[in-house]
Amino acid sequence: MSKKLILILGDQLDIASPALKNIDIAVDAILMVESANEAQYVWSHKAKIALFVSAMRHFAKQLEQQGLSLIYIKQSTKTIAENLKVELVKGKFTHLICVEPGEWRLKQAIEAVASEVGIELEMQEDTHFYCSREEFSAWVANKKELRLEYFYRLMRKKHGILVDGEGNPEGGQWNFDKDNRKPFPKKGPGLINPPELFDPDDITRGVLAEVEKRYPDHPGSLANFQWPVTRKQALQALQCFVEHRLATFGIHEDAMWTGTPFGWHSLLSSSLNLKLLNPREVISAVLGAWKKYDLDIATVEGFIRQILGWREFVRGMYYLDMPQMAKDNFYQHQNKLPAWYWSGDTKMHCMKATIGQTLEYGYAHHIQRLMVTGNFALLAEILPKEVCDWYLAIYIDAIEWVELPNTAGMALFASGGRFTSKPYIASGAYIKRMSNYCDSCHYKPDVRFGETACPMTNLYWNFLIKHRKQFEASPRTRLMTANLARISEPDQKAIQIHAKALLANLDSV
Ligand SMILES: Cc1cc2nc3c(=O)[nH]c(=O)nc-3n(C[C@H](O)[C@H](O)[C@H](O)COP(=O)(O)OP(=O)(O)OC[C@H]3O[C@@H](n4cnc5c(N)ncnc54)[C@H](O)[C@@H]3O)c2cc1C
Ligand code: SF4
Repeated sequence: MSKKLILILGDQLDIASPALKNIDIAVDAILMVESANEAQYVWSHKAKIALFVSAMRHFAKQLEQQGLSLIYIKQSTKTIAENLKVELVKGKFTHLICVEPGEWRLKQAIEAVASEVGIELEMQEDTHFYCSREEFSAWVANKKELRLEYFYRLMRKKHGILVDGEGNPEGGQWNFDKDNRKPFPKKGPGLINPPELFDPDDITRGVLAEVEKRYPDHPGSLANFQWPVTRKQALQALQCFVEHRLATFGIHEDAMWTGTPFGWHSLLSSSLNLKLLNPREVISAVLGAWKKYDLDIATVEGFIRQILGWREFVRGMYYLDMPQMAKDNFYQHQNKLPAWYWSGDTKMHCMKATIGQTLEYGYAHHIQRLMVTGNFALLAEILPKEVCDWYLAIYIDAIEWVELPNTAGMALFASGGRFTSKPYIASGAYIKRMSNYCDSCHYKPDVRFGETACPMTNLYWNFLIKHRKQFEASPRTRLMTANLARISEPDQKAIQIHAKALLANLDSV
């Protein structure tokens, strides 16, 4: 007789999971493990640990209320794989069922346990996503270039999202990115409708106390922990976003401002990644709000592109390119991550603000991650592995399938032009335009070398000088080197001398 053990991981908290479909409640059991290794393999933010553990405990309660047989292992010092092996043998299970994990290392570990124990493993496709791995591979097969835009159009057409009856894009364009890049007004963002946040309940308060006790030296604060930890809360957060915040999401999507950690963003990534929310219901809610409130197509398209486009695309790329993606280092950068990435203790105000809110909430929005912390890490020639581990540790929504392609692939150009057409680099001028960070900074954004030189600006020009040939070769980046030609030879030399000293002393910027 078959007896199945169904493994549910901390980012698979979906009661409609395919792994639970054919459960025989008379004989089968579900296994969930809180493993200290998951909190420690990268030096995780306390809020990230607390989010996963609290959401798991709430989900476990739901499973138990449904009368399902659950083996729930709390605060284990063993790895998930070690616990799995013990339970498989102890319970004399004949089959191991799970949905494909979102991290390569866990997939390898589960497969290894199944083969060691000699048990049949059924690793199921993750139906949470619109695009299956097979479909993504088929799309890749006949492509010279792997670019989001074409994949995204295909998804729009296939799923009939923001297309008219003839398959044309709503609003006459596929992409309204150009309309979604405005900074906040000079006087600041003004009043922003607040996101839905949740006071910790008894379960969460217990978890927060445990995390504080068990991981006292881990980075980040728990003081502001108000993330959704149940599906009900995640749905409330979604409702609040589409009703009160979506209308203004697009236009200021890229804007940054001191003391404004969330802007108009949705804050839905952790709920989506833990599978408390399904992307289909998020898109359906956004489309519903578009019609109901007659929202601007630019904001609606801009938001849907993130979910139906980027989120699906990076997942496809992760599985396609792993394990190589984790080793990629196109520029062969080797510098160490400055220690202040973990404390925010730097004179660079943009970095201090972004890292500061990250430590406070485990959150920074896309442009802060890409054009502030990511931009600096690339310009400062930091080893991709160190940067990727930081992102994986520090953001509440970080799971490797989504973190790695964004960090290595997009922010650091570590995979070369594999799926981005150019390195995302910018000088202090961009940060000055998109934020108020420079107004109160020790450095001056338009100074390229010398005592007050902005490190972003200095390293940006240094990077262009160093990689001039690469940038000249592509029509997308040629303009950047044309600007370089306007800087005199002696000034270019001075930029390089300043950069050399800066790169040798990254800990003290
Ligand atoms: C270097 C770097 C690292 C990142 N690491 C992660 C990560 O670990 N986990 C994560 O979920 N996102 C990551 N992102 C993508 C993006 O920054 C976050 O999804 C977003 O900031 C989450 O905030 P939000 O929910 O308010 O998003 P919103 O701005 O409101 O966007 C809506 C949703 O779209 C999705 N989305 C947006 N951009 C992306 C993207 N580039 N890739 C995949 N999904 C996207 C998210 O699910 C997000 O919730 C990273 C981006 C960069 C540049
Ligand atoms: S001056 Fe440079 S370092 Fe300072 S906030 Fe602006 S971009 Fe950042």
